[in-house]
Order: sequence, then C-alpha cells, then structure tokens
Amino acid sequence: MYTALLAKEQGSVLLLTKGSIDDTNTKHAQGGIAAAIGKDDSPERHFHDTIAAGYGLCNEEAARILADEATHRIADLVSLGVPFDTLNGEIALTLEAAHSLPRILHAGGDATGEYIETTLSNRVRESRIKVLENCLATRIQVQKGAVTGITTLDCHNGAKEEFSCCCLILATGGGGQLFKFTTNPAVATGDGVALAFQAGAEITDMEFFQFHPTALRLPRVTPFLISEAVRGEGGVLRNVNGRRFMPDYAPEADLAPRDVVARSVVHEMKKTGSDKVYIDITHLPPHRITTRFPHIYRFCLDHGLDITKDLIPVAPAAHYMMGGVRVNTWGQTNISGLFAAGETACTGVHGANRLASNSMLEVVVFSKRLVDKTVADKQEAITTKSGGDIYRKLSRRQVPRARQTPGLSDLQQLHWDKVGITRDKQGLTEAADTLAAWQQSLPAPTNRPSYELSNLVLAGRLMTETALLREESRGAHFRTDFPHESPEWRRHIIFTAE
Ligand SMILES: Cc1cc2nc3c(=O)[nH]c(=O)nc-3n(C[C@H](O)[C@H](O)[C@H](O)COP(=O)(O)OP(=O)(O)OC[C@H]3O[C@@H](n4cnc5c(N)ncnc54)[C@H](O)[C@@H]3O)c2cc1C
Repeated sequence: MYTALLAKEQGSVLLLTKGSIDDTNTKHAQGGIAAAIGKDDSPERHFHDTIAAGYGLCNEEAARILADEATHRIADLVSLGVPFDTLNGEIALTLEAAHSLPRILHAGGDATGEYIETTLSNRVRESRIKVLENCLATRIQVQKGAVTGITTLDCHNGAKEEFSCCCLILATGGGGQLFKFTTNPAVATGDGVALAFQAGAEITDMEFFQFHPTALRLPRVTPFLISEAVRGEGGVLRNVNGRRFMPDYAPEADLAPRDVVARSVVHEMKKTGSDKVYIDITHLPPHRITTRFPHIYRFCLDHGLDITKDLIPVAPAAHYMMGGVRVNTWGQTNISGLFAAGETACTGVHGANRLASNSMLEVVVFSKRLVDKTVADKQEAITTKSGGDIYRKLSRRQVPRARQTPGLSDLQQLHWDKVGITRDKQGLTEAADTLAAWQQSLPAPTNRPSYELSNLVLAGRLMTETALLREESRGAHFRTDFPHESPEWRRHIIFTAE
C-alpha cells in the first residue's frame, strides 16, 4: 500500500490482494518499527546492531541504507497520519532484543502494525488507486526476460483474468503457514516466492526462518504473539517450575537474540517435560501493563488470563521469513520490470537472523527506493553475481509419487517436525523427499486453497533443500549435526528453476 501510494504519483496503479485489503501480516505487528531517532542513538549504531544480529550474512550496503533512510521514512509515515505513541511530547521509544538502546517506535501501545495498516488503507481508499480484493495472483507473465503482466483468479467466482503491466511489484508477505505453530495469519503462504520462482526469479536465503520464542500456548488457541517488548519492559522467562532460566543460557538473558531465546526455551521445555514456559510480568505495576500492552492484556483476558496477576504460558512459533525473492537495494529482481518488497523480498538486510522491528522499516525504506528506481529506469534487471555464493537449480528428486495428496496440516506438521527450530540431515532428507513426492502428486490448482497449498509445497522445498545444503549452524538455521558456525559458509545459497 505504501508503494502504491508513492507509485500513483508516476502513473496508473492497480493493487491486487487475495483477501480483504487489511488481511495482512502487517496488521498483526505489535512491538513496533525501529529507527535511530533517540538523542543518544545514530544510524551508525542501528547499522552495527543490524549487522551483529545477522551473523555475518547481512548485505552491508542494504543495512546501511536501512539505518540511514529510517528517519525519513518515519517522517513519511507520520505525515501520512500514523499516530506513534508519545511521552512528554516526544515519540516514545522502547527496547527490544539485540538493540543496544531503546529504538522502537510504537502506536496504540502494542498495536503498531494495525495503526500503520489502517492509516495506509485509509489513504489508499481516499486515493485514485484501483483496488481489487479477493483477487489471487496465480502467474507472472514474462516474455524475453521482461515482465508483461499477471494472471489472477477471482476468489469468489473462480474467474480468471489477465492484466498487462510494465512494472510488477510483489509485496505478498511471508510464509509462516509452512509451520504447525505460527504467529502469521492465514494469508502468509509464501505466494510471492512461488510465483517469482516459477517466472524465473532467483530465490535466496530460504533456510533462514525466524522462530519467535514467545507465542501464547493455550489449548485450542492460535499462537498469538506475546511481543518481545514485554521482555523489553522487564518481563522474564520462567520454566514450569517457576525458575528463571535465561541467565543460564546467555549473558543478555531474556533479551538475547531471538534464535538463542527460542532454542533455550525448547531446551528448557524438554528438560522439564513440558510444552511451554512462562513470561512473568506480574512484578510490573498493573497500570503500566494495561496501558503499554492493551492489546495483549485484552487478548489474554478474553482467554481467561489476567497478565497483571497470572504468568503467561508461551512456546516458540514460526514468525518471519528472512529469505525470499532476491533483490538489489532498488528492489529489482533478475527479471526486468519485476520488483519485490517487504517480507517476500530478500534485500539481505536481515542476514541469517532479523533484528526485531527492522522488517516494517525494511518495507517502507525499500518500497520508496523501488518507486524511485521505476521512475529513473524500469528496464534494468540485476546481473550481479557474487563469486562466493552457491547457485543451484531446484531439481526433481528421484522419489515415487505420493499415494495420497497432502493436506495443509500434513505440510505444517512435516515442516514443524523436520525443518523447524533444530534440524539434521536425516530429518531434512525425509522432508525433502516427501515434499518432492507431494509436488509430483498435487493436482493442478483451481481455487485459492489449492493454489496456496501448491505454493507452500514449493516454498517448503526451497527452504528444505537450502537447509540441507547448509552444513553449519548460523542464526536461525540450527543443525544438530553441524552445531557450529563455519567461516566457509559465509555465503548465500541461491535457487532458480530447472
Ligand atoms: C504477529 C506478528 C508480529 C510482528 N511484529 C512486528 C514488529 O513489531 N515489527 C516489525 O517490524 N515487524 C513485525 N512483524 C513482521 C512484519 O509485520 C511483516 O514482516 C511485515 O508487516 C510484512 O509486510 P508485507 O507488506 O511484506 O506483507 P503483508 O503485510 O503480509 O501483506 C501481504 C499482502 O499480500 C497479499 N497476498 C499474498 N499473496 C497474494 C497473492 N497470491 N495474490 C494477491 N495477494 C496476495 C496478502 O493477502 C496481503 O494482503 C510481525 C509479524 C507478525 C505476524
């Protein structure tokens, strides 16, 4: 929506979305958006924190752009009407894991994404932008290496349609629905990665999927996120016996990087034979909890938990796709006229692990650059190949066709068990074989659920094959059979179609 608002100044824009306009990951973002606006902060510090979180795989040029352009894009959001929370007349800042100081702007306490999404969708509705809801993109049309249009499916009446365009911008979000437990809504089915891959685009860093350590774990309740800002404001993790355990695992304790906290939680759950741990914020003044985290407080209360008095049961859940459609710092892919932005794109700013609250910032920083580029020269496609990176074709595996076609829950269970927080060669090989067999047995998609399942199988194959290739542990990718980081793996894996 931000890209569309900028692009409408240059020409006609059509915005397609498969659900309603507000059916997004963005709406669910709680903690906030990072920017070095504090008086002791600087883009340089933000850059260094981003690089440190990325475990040697960040694109430094992209990370520098992210940090440098952040304040300008925040100013844009403010002028579009996003009401960031203030304290004593200044924008209020909070702390999240692996940021060296409070740097996170928030809105509505813990409803930042909803405020951003609502503000942008209001601006889109007021504009001349044509919006088609319930319109699923099913194929990118490419001729002679350049985008010519897109094929869509009306999710209500099944009608197919083709639109031609000179610039196509994929902003289809993440792929959390790959996993049984996820903080992502139902729309996050990796469609952009699948569409771009089928059109001939390069897909990179798919082995890096961030698991959030603290999603609410209650029977029959979706894993609602308990934001890292809860720990940033003083919450601590305790095991089921009430013991605070994070100081045993990391010097930063409860504010260690997400991958470290997620694995520590899994370890502690195994040690205590439980499916959960707890966040304890009962020591904070109740008024502070209800005003700083009104959304989380209300959600938990609706499910029988008063978090000013009760411990919050949590466990890790799949949260953020660091990899995606490979783009340069102008959002360009290797296909002329095809751009990608947001969670479906891989600019390289996150490396092997995303620094909290850098993702919504990445959306706005690189969307702006992308539109600037389409104005300057839309025909370019990226050609840069780095010598150290590994280029692979996604080949067919020699496996028998699956006897039964999989359902969404089979796929989510498979990824959770074999391609999850900890991985090894045996589990990954089993998953790779199963996914390849499923891919061969899937009938041609006809409606939104069958397209989404087919996209998830393809995105899952890309994730599993890259995880199998990367014989080391780095950031969010942890192999029990290769538990250490290896300097020779300081490179990216890039997949293209056969
Ligand atoms: C619970 C939660 C909390 C988070 N908290 C934070 C946070 O505090 N700070 C932060 O920076 N980040 C946070 N994130 C991550 C962040 O919200 C996302 O990375 C970011 O908002 C993604 O924006 P996007 O525009 O790329 O995708 P989205 O906002 O997901 O939008 C994608 C859109 O594309 C549409 N779409 C998808 N496929 C198709 C298709 N085939 N055809 C047509 N339309 C399609 C979808 O329906 C959707 O409308 C959080 C994420 C979650 C889930």
